[in-house]
Amino acid sequence: MAHAPSYYAASAHPQPDRPPLRGDHDADVCVVGAGYTGLSSALHLAEAGFRVIVVEAEQVGWGASGRNGGQIVHSYSRDLDVIEANHGPKTAAALGAMAFEGAKIIRERVYKYGIRCALKDGGIYAAKTAKKVHELAEHKALWERFGHPGMQLLDRAAVHQHVGTDAYEALLVDPSGGHIHPLNLALGQAVALESLGGVIHEHSRVTRIERGEEARVHTADGVVRARFVIVACNAYLGDLEPQLAAKSMPCGTQVVATEPLEDRWQDVLPTDYCVEDNNFLLDYYRLSEDRRLIFGGGVIYGARDPRRIESLIRPNLERTFPQLAGVKIEFAWTGNFLLTLSRLPQVGRLSHNLYYSQGCSGHGVTYTHLIGRVLAEAIRGQAERFDAFAALPHYPFPGGRLFRVPFTALGALYYDLRDRLGL
Ligand SMILES: Cc1cc2nc3c(=O)[nH]c(=O)nc-3n(C[C@H](O)[C@H](O)[C@H](O)COP(=O)(O)OP(=O)(O)OC[C@H]3O[C@@H](n4cnc5c(N)ncnc54)[C@H](O)[C@@H]3O)c2cc1C
Repeated sequence: MAHAPSYYAASAHPQPDRPPLRGDHDADVCVVGAGYTGLSSALHLAEAGFRVIVVEAEQVGWGASGRNGGQIVHSYSRDLDVIEANHGPKTAAALGAMAFEGAKIIRERVYKYGIRCALKDGGIYAAKTAKKVHELAEHKALWERFGHPGMQLLDRAAVHQHVGTDAYEALLVDPSGGHIHPLNLALGQAVALESLGGVIHEHSRVTRIERGEEARVHTADGVVRARFVIVACNAYLGDLEPQLAAKSMPCGTQVVATEPLEDRWQDVLPTDYCVEDNNFLLDYYRLSEDRRLIFGGGVIYGARDPRRIESLIRPNLERTFPQLAGVKIEFAWTGNFLLTLSRLPQVGRLSHNLYYSQGCSGHGVTYTHLIGRVLAEAIRGQAERFDAFAALPHYPFPGGRLFRVPFTALGALYYDLRDRLGL
């Protein structure tokens, strides 16, 4: 299947041919899925000398990794205060010590392998109400407590330094955030992996993983025999491993890219930082390298038609930037991320040599790069950091497979309403 009809697919760097898996192959590690989780794991393992084969159902970066908002956001979708309250100070300290590492890994990769993915430094969290301003201040204090200084809280009078809107009461500016062309980041890591001898097979959907001392990963036309397997399919897993599908829920979020703004970009995002608000159903946006506004928002179930996506996103875009009223939207696409009830990732082993990570629940660009390193460490026999993630409980959604969507949508509506009313 082709990439989603995104601005990223239209501006992706050319790639080598990656033929489907045919016949029998041997590897130390077989990675299923070539998104950031799979690619990051594979690259860390190849750097450590492992023979790695990546098997991808579609193409490198076809899933969320090649079509996301491109925002480099630290920590996890549930932040460290919630982890501390629910799982205790020891777990919070362990996960807190890793919460800012993913962004460093991305930057290391970009510089080490010369990946051209339009990396820009600088991220902003924006508050729309007084209550949300208070939450920004708490956010800053929390991250400082976990060793992340350098953020700056700006009041309403200073908003226009960074964002050309009257929509916000305050901004929290994090110079160590940033943004990337997400598909080119994935493609660049694929090329880096191949430069180390790793092999990627595209258009090779895994149909079955046979457990055993030596696991066997089956596609329609081939098998990989491997000492270790990593399942990195996230929201596109389907029925491959029903145990993993049972406690998570794929959710759609939509993104649009405008026409290039030419000189108008300076009235929108003069410092070229990326922005997300801190509402439960949040808007996120940034400029592309050619000065388009890339604007995503909310969680909307099942909106696949591009005209419908535009009609869903445009009102928020124009409410935030009235100066862009009528701007042409040239790309509109949708993608799935994987929600868990706790909003924390699910990490573990399905058998002694079958590893997985999934469900980072919205914010995954940095986490997936981190967990690739952590999975590689575990396979090399250092499982301390892996165990910290694996100890987090995995809860089923209320309503089971039949009612989990309406139940969760109702919950989201409730929190959205509270945000809108400033409660
Ligand atoms: C529209 C959108 C916007 C987002 N914006 C941001 C953002 O700005 N910042 C942020 O931090 N996070 C964002 N996220 C979340 C982030 O993109 C994801 O958390 C992250 O990319 C997940 O990476 P992954 O490798 O785990 O999964 P994916 O990138 O989805 O990769 C999974 C891969 O597995 C493959 N696969 C599935 N089944 C099989 C099989 N049986 N055999 C072989 N291969 C298989 C799929 O084809 C796919 O390529 C966004 C997500 C979406 C959808």
